[in-house]
Amino acid sequence: MPTESSQPPISIPPLDLWSFLFEQPDREFPEDHEIFVDIAARKRYTFREIRDTSVKIGHAFQHNWGWRKGDVMALFTQNCTDVAAVIFGTLWAGGVVCPLNNLSTVGELTSYLKSSGAKALTTHISSLDAAQAAARAAGLPLNRIILIGDPDPKGKTTHFSSLRGPAKSAKKASINPNEDLAFLVYSSGTTGQPKGVMLSHQNMVANALQNATMDEGHTSWKSDRNMGFLPLYHIYGLAALLILPVYRGVTVYIMQRFDLEQFCQSIERNKITVTFIVPPVALLLAKHPLVSKYNLSSLRMMHSSAAPLTKDLVDMLYRRLKVPIKQGYGLSEASPGVVAQTWRDWNNPIGSVGKLLPSMTIKFMSGDVEVPVGEQGELWIKGPNICKGYYKNEKATAESINAEGWYRTGDVGYIDQNKNIFITDRMKELIKYNGFQVWPAQLEGLLLGHPAVDDVAVIGVYSKERATELPRAYVVLAKDYMASKGLEKDIADWLSTKVSPYKRLRGGIRFVDAIPKSAAGKVLRRILVEEAKKEQDGEFPVAKL
Ligand code: AMP
Repeated sequence: MPTESSQPPISIPPLDLWSFLFEQPDREFPEDHEIFVDIAARKRYTFREIRDTSVKIGHAFQHNWGWRKGDVMALFTQNCTDVAAVIFGTLWAGGVVCPLNNLSTVGELTSYLKSSGAKALTTHISSLDAAQAAARAAGLPLNRIILIGDPDPKGKTTHFSSLRGPAKSAKKASINPNEDLAFLVYSSGTTGQPKGVMLSHQNMVANALQNATMDEGHTSWKSDRNMGFLPLYHIYGLAALLILPVYRGVTVYIMQRFDLEQFCQSIERNKITVTFIVPPVALLLAKHPLVSKYNLSSLRMMHSSAAPLTKDLVDMLYRRLKVPIKQGYGLSEASPGVVAQTWRDWNNPIGSVGKLLPSMTIKFMSGDVEVPVGEQGELWIKGPNICKGYYKNEKATAESINAEGWYRTGDVGYIDQNKNIFITDRMKELIKYNGFQVWPAQLEGLLLGHPAVDDVAVIGVYSKERATELPRAYVVLAKDYMASKGLEKDIADWLSTKVSPYKRLRGGIRFVDAIPKSAAGKVLRRILVEEAKKEQDGEFPVAKL
């Protein structure tokens, strides 16, 4: 029997995300309460400012560009509080926000712009050159690039703060929350190339409510301060640093990117009480000497998600900082929260990702057969936060969401008698490096273009030293090539020129005689994953790339 959440189901108001956040009838905090603080730019937005700025921008999109419901705004920028204004402005005008990794290469960005059909692109001065090159290649007019953060010193690119429409005519787009999309985020799902995950307004509203119930009564807009470095182009960052703060009124201090010293400094200076992290950061906080220089005693709770957090790491971190760390499990396709530990139960038991969020149902499957409580199986999940499918990809949608609405996660785990859920493995191809998705099929496709590579399979190998998976390639060499350290470096460096830095082959390259394949020619990555586990037990030199 599938397991339902023990929490009472949420009631989802029939609202679009903008109205849900900015027109809350029972909002507890005042309009001039500070919501976003940009640590580097020292820029701040109160609730009123973020709401009014987003209306101004959304209105300008409608007026200047004939913005229509469903038009896509691509985001290609480092973290900065202005991102919030553009995201909410796009939603106000009925647009769909498509956040993209700001470390993407021009080639990668071009293909995202083309596949999402982006009508406009928001960027930061640090990414402007790449944004312009990709816009040119994708046929997106350069005057539809807007800058946030610092203005363009050459004065050529429109800064978001100068956008406005005619006085008085502003009219928010009319949205059907169940049908219309709020976000298009990229994920490979269980297999293949990245695909646009369609998240409706209702998906996002539902997940905001589901997440909020898990900390109900434990956080307060008056006394809590959240700090984050999670990228706002990842669904975890969007939920934790953008949506929850506006909904709850808990001020969020946003870092451009992760820097350990700045992170600790800011916790001390701003008396941060809660923070959302990923396992490699938990490792640094547990081990790095620099951490001892700072007083982190204001912290009341940390939350880790996006990748497995081991029991050892939770113990080590708690011993050092005496700060509880709870875990959550989610995925882009679930907007993203599915399971989470609560404040009260953060250590009961350690190693679990927690219990189902309200209105979620789960079952554990071996093939098409459900396994009993306590046995491992693939997690199939159902709930109001499950995406509408993959953009313009009916085949992938039908393969991952069945007619009854079950989404097959490709993750493996089990549930105990007390409804605690444990994630034990991942059967899908996806690799997670520092919480970012790395797609084996994409790297394999590129590596086949190297003259020395005859056949290849890419898998993730877990590094204890880094508390993350690292991408590793198994390569069958073409005739005339000899396996050597020099060739390994040559291939890895060659790939590094073609992909974002986080996709580099830090797990190394192994030369093999053949790639294990099924009779139908499907790569049996599982065999390589098991061999890698035996080979090094998490200890191996990390390639410096
Ligand atoms: P993303 O869509 O980028 O958020 O990646 C989702 C995937 O990250 C999931 O399908 C899992 O494989 C992995 N993941 C997320 N949270 C956890 C967790 N707490 N433990 C283990 N794996 C996780």
